[in-house]
Amino acid sequence: MTQGVIVKALSGFYTVRTEEGTLVCKARGRFRLDGTSPLVGDRVLCSRDAEGGGRIDRVLERRNFFIRPAVANVDALVFVAANANPVTDPFLIDRVSVIACDAGCELIVCVNKTDLDAGTELLETYRKAGFPVVSASAETGEGVEELRRLLRGKICAFTGNSGVGKSSLLNALEPDLLLRTDAVSEKLGRGKHTTRHVELFSLGEDSYVADTPGFASFEIEMMKLIPKERLQEDFIDFAPYLGRCRFPDCSHRREPDCALRAAAEAGEIAPSRYRSYLRLYEMSAGYRDWELKQNPG
Ligand code: GDP
Ligand code: ZN
Repeated sequence: MTQGVIVKALSGFYTVRTEEGTLVCKARGRFRLDGTSPLVGDRVLCSRDAEGGGRIDRVLERRNFFIRPAVANVDALVFVAANANPVTDPFLIDRVSVIACDAGCELIVCVNKTDLDAGTELLETYRKAGFPVVSASAETGEGVEELRRLLRGKICAFTGNSGVGKSSLLNALEPDLLLRTDAVSEKLGRGKHTTRHVELFSLGEDSYVADTPGFASFEIEMMKLIPKERLQEDFIDFAPYLGRCRFPDCSHRREPDCALRAAAEAGEIAPSRYRSYLRLYEMSAGYRDWELKQNPG
């Protein structure tokens, strides 16, 4: 038996990359029975059968998994932002930062198009909040090597508002990538299968990027809902202040003697991060219980 990573899943066949090369495996019935269909990103034990095909013997424990797109073991979400053409709303970054934290994966904030605008405030806000940040330009190549270094050995996924340069950055990291993803899109039909088909593309040095046809990648709008009580824990920069409010069940909105609000007013926490918390709290509070139950922790 060898260990490998599922890099592609299509019509019941799984392509597994192992140290001894690539093996195409057929899913076995029992995975479906215990409710764990293998996902792209899963680390598996597999073996070669007499005919040269493969078989997945076991799916190893997952670090996390996402449903749309269906991918397991994401180590890092890369949020690509820009402060010019288009300007990224920090709320989007905060929303993804909460999803990342909730799933136990790292968030890397990459401010692209720095040849047009340095994006100093964005960089400072997220550096101060404790995230790895990269100042980049797909145009000049700035920051590309740093990004590559941050992604080494990881499975990552790129997200960010349209036009910020995700495809351009991925192409700067791995020039073959666009050709390969375009070929996939063409074969599957752009748009039609975007939520179903995921593939891990190698970025070299055992780094992988999860992608869907046409670089749709992680759709921010489709991201899961997080219960309002848990939100505060998913803002990593709030940690030093939690438990220091007058009320133990403080929601940090209008309660008196709220340590978190005080920290935001004093600028110890970026006011934009606090505002995003309030906005996400209101959004979560508006969800019904059944909606939240569809997205258990
Ligand atoms: P995506 O929608 O996030 O994948 O964005 P694209 O990679 O398609 O880029 C959108 C547009 O921005 C394209 O016209 C790119 O050439 C341009 N672009 C991407 N990165 C940069 C950059 O760093 N600087 C400048 N000036 N333009 C860029
Ligand atoms: Zn509070």
